[in-house]
Amino acid sequence: MELERPLPHPITPEARPYWEGLREHRLMLPGCLDCGRSFFYPRIVCPYCHSRQIVWTQASGRGRLHAFEIAYQPMGRAFTVKPPYVLAMIELEEGPRMMSNLINVEPDPRAIRCDMPVEVVFERLTDEITLPLFQPARAAGGGR
Ligand SMILES: [Zn+2]
Repeated sequence: MELERPLPHPITPEARPYWEGLREHRLMLPGCLDCGRSFFYPRIVCPYCHSRQIVWTQASGRGRLHAFEIAYQPMGRAFTVKPPYVLAMIELEEGPRMMSNLINVEPDPRAIRCDMPVEVVFERLTDEITLPLFQPARAAGGGR
């Protein structure tokens, strides 16, 4: 199978629960036992209070589109997702923001708006690597 994206090489032990969760279709987020905040990306020290008491919890997978850009050019030779595609900064329900792609939506500024509710979709690349992408949230429980 031809991969459309460069493959991440997760070698840092502090990110292992993140990648393991994705393989099981769970979006795991690191959080801090001391101040109670979750954060992203995974780190061994809390970015808010410098505690090392890091715990992992499963995120709901829901969030909002914080910002987006529609890309009409490929990002690089290893990234062959057919343009146009949507680069998205997602603000998760739990607070942290993560960079991803918005899929299953027309890559058209008239179809996409900031703050729209989104939900995670798991895209399996290999046995090791599954990526969290996002799509517009389905109507149930959402409300527009
Ligand atoms: Zn903290």
